[in-house]
Amino acid sequence: MLRVDVVTIFPRMFDPLLAEGVLARGIKSDRIRVEVWDLRDFATDRHRSTDDEAYGGGPGMVMLAEPVFRCVDAICRVDETRRPTVVMTSPQGELFRHETAQRLRADGWVVFLCGRYEGFDERILSVVDLELSLGDFVVSGGELPAMLMIDAISRLVEGVVGNNESVTGDSFFNGLLDYPHYTRPAEIRGLHVPDVLISGHAEKIRLWRKEQSLRRTLARRPDLLAGAELDAESKKILERIKIEE
Ligand code: SAH
Repeated sequence: MLRVDVVTIFPRMFDPLLAEGVLARGIKSDRIRVEVWDLRDFATDRHRSTDDEAYGGGPGMVMLAEPVFRCVDAICRVDETRRPTVVMTSPQGELFRHETAQRLRADGWVVFLCGRYEGFDERILSVVDLELSLGDFVVSGGELPAMLMIDAISRLVEGVVGNNESVTGDSFFNGLLDYPHYTRPAEIRGLHVPDVLISGHAEKIRLWRKEQSLRRTLARRPDLLAGAELDAESKKILERIKIEE
């Protein structure tokens, strides 16, 4: 069971994510539990404020620390036998990768803090375990980044994606990019499916896919190959590809 808590001022943004597809199925089958917390419920004033002007001046608003502290405290009280991993979404964080998803899946309980405006008061870092970014760009809020991360982590929960082989065969799972996929028809606009895939020869298909996976990774992401743990067969194929080239 994976437990995810989300802290946001736009809780309804998560409704469609949780209502459809892989996540909805994971929730229905009790493999994942997602709780979305409205940060405004933890505000301390009559107006339910969650942001204020920046010390030092400047145009943007800053998310208040106190409601976040109170909300994280409330989340931690849900289960006092363990501690969640508290993640702050931020363009300044460590890059979210497959390994990050695996780590958070293994942790089993993750809290996502979704910022808005200029981001959070720096002091919330005192309750944060991990600052995670989706890449070198800025979006307007932490909700979309959190959703993407939740989706990626949920796929790693056993049974959430119908066929587990489709997860372990995905890009990055074994350190490589996925091989190319084809479906019917066998010919479209003069474009053909590689013969081997129609041959019905299982062993040849397996080897072709493995080779494609290695070729692509070498061409597009040699950085991944450097870190991948390859079996003897892959090493042989790779040597042959390199000689060919
Ligand atoms: N002033 C901040 C950006 C704030 S954007 C800065 O320049 O660093 C508002 C919020 O959107 C952030 O608090 C964070 O929650 C989210 N966010 C924006 N870009 C992101 C990214 N690349 N990855 C993860 N979260 C991001």
